[in-house]
Amino acid sequence: MWAKIASSSAKKEKDTTDKNDGPKDKSKKDDISDSLDDLITLNVGGIKHQSQISTLKKLKNTRLTNVADIAKSSGQREFFFDRHPDLFPYILNFYRSGKLHMPTNICGPLIKEELHYWKIDDKDIQQCCWVHYINHEETFDMIERFEKDEHHHKVATEAVSEKASFFKKQRT
Ligand SMILES: [Zn+2]
Repeated sequence: MWAKIASSSAKKEKDTTDKNDGPKDKSKKDDISDSLDDLITLNVGGIKHQSQISTLKKLKNTRLTNVADIAKSSGQREFFFDRHPDLFPYILNFYRSGKLHMPTNICGPLIKEELHYWKIDDKDIQQCCWVHYINHEETFDMIERFEKDEHHHKVATEAVSEKASFFKKQRT
């Protein structure tokens, strides 16, 4: 009798343990809905986005990681950023998916500026979007090289125009 009870309670315990340890049961709550206490509203340029503190903490040392820390410690749940609203979904998606894609209809320097603001390294941009992004760097390099080649012409032109403006000043 005792042995029977003991063994059945042991069996019960074992079943419960299995249930708690099973990854399927552990994530059951998350499958239905993510926790609401963790919810955070990010108003970017007037457009509201909602995410979770835990999502924003997936990346390290970014602006939104700090926001998540502040939200957690202060209880503040809404934050406003006066930044480009069209790029922000791509930024947020990086936290959700771990992949940083960027729209190809937005100029590279603008993307660079936004990534700098959100403290995200542009080296994290996925290969598929990298070619578009890096295009502007190559264009700038080309312009720089062109200007170097033309440097002596430029110096001469500047000297002349300086002289010209000096004379102009003297005459007026
Ligand atoms: Zn891409």
